Amino acid sequence: MNGFMKIWMGFVFLAASFSGQIFAAVGGGDEAGNGAGIAEHHVVSAYLNLGEYLDLCLNSSECELDAREHALLRKIRTGLLGEYQNRRQLSFKKESELPGFFIIDGYLRVAKTGDQVGSTIYVNRDLLYRMGPGGVITGLSLESAIAILVHEMGHHHGEVDHTVLDYLGAKVMNMVLGVLQRTDLGPNRRNILATVFDLDRAGSFAQFLVSDGLRAIDLSAVLKSFIQCPSLNDEVQTLQGLSLFNLHWKWKEGDPLSLRGDLVLFCENAQSENASVVRGYGIEVNLAYRWDSQSRMRLQPGSESFKQVLCAENPSVCSENVQASSFK
Ligand SMILES: [Zn+2]
Repeated sequence: MNGFMKIWMGFVFLAASFSGQIFAAVGGGDEAGNGAGIAEHHVVSAYLNLGEYLDLCLNSSECELDAREHALLRKIRTGLLGEYQNRRQLSFKKESELPGFFIIDGYLRVAKTGDQVGSTIYVNRDLLYRMGPGGVITGLSLESAIAILVHEMGHHHGEVDHTVLDYLGAKVMNMVLGVLQRTDLGPNRRNILATVFDLDRAGSFAQFLVSDGLRAIDLSAVLKSFIQCPSLNDEVQTLQGLSLFNLHWKWKEGDPLSLRGDLVLFCENAQSENASVVRGYGIEVNLAYRWDSQSRMRLQPGSESFKQVLCAENPSVCSENVQASSFK
């Protein structure tokens, strides 16, 4: 797909979501229509990791930024520290409870903000969920949340043209989409989804989320704390980054739900500071679930258990049998 096509598609999606034509108000949050649901989770996740997403675009010519966009995105990137000074920068409100609050220039918006770095970003929860095929409620995606935040933070650096910011957000979104890996559980269970954002470089930890259409569970932090580097010549190595790839689900009716994948670990010897790339490990994540009243599978947050395995001893978990080796 050429660059223009990618941007055009992103823009159409964004324009539609911003106008509320696609993201109609259908409640959202949890099944009772309140509480933080998958869309809110995506907004928060996008917010907390925005620097990584912006760098991806800023450091690649594939993002196809013109000089003006590049300068603005650079300002948004360097402004992030200032943005995060406002510990309550994100605020979720409902247009239905505050009629007119999200109307700007005659259009209903999914978000609005002020014109200063650190200004509160108000997100319209009425537009975060839509009714999909078969009456399935779908929440705003992570990449759409990223585009929205780029747009809003662009206003903090003097850009007042919403269309310019929609384009800029779409470009960052398309770069992120090129890196995101998604694996679902197949027909009738597409709502069960594993998402990995992996920058594939030393010093970077893969972001790892599982979701069921209503809720997202961010497993990034627990993965980072759980995975260990093997000791090398009896010396302790510390984990400095990890890649997660080739995710696949393993499940049959009545069995626990299991998610498996390959790991590449970036390890460092605490004494010598020698770095090594360690292959040959995999991860198995077990997740508890229940069936809701519409016979949809729903994940049980807090039930996750992890197992780090040596591929050579557990070939069904990994894609390849590669011994832990390959040092540099
Ligand atoms: Zn705007």
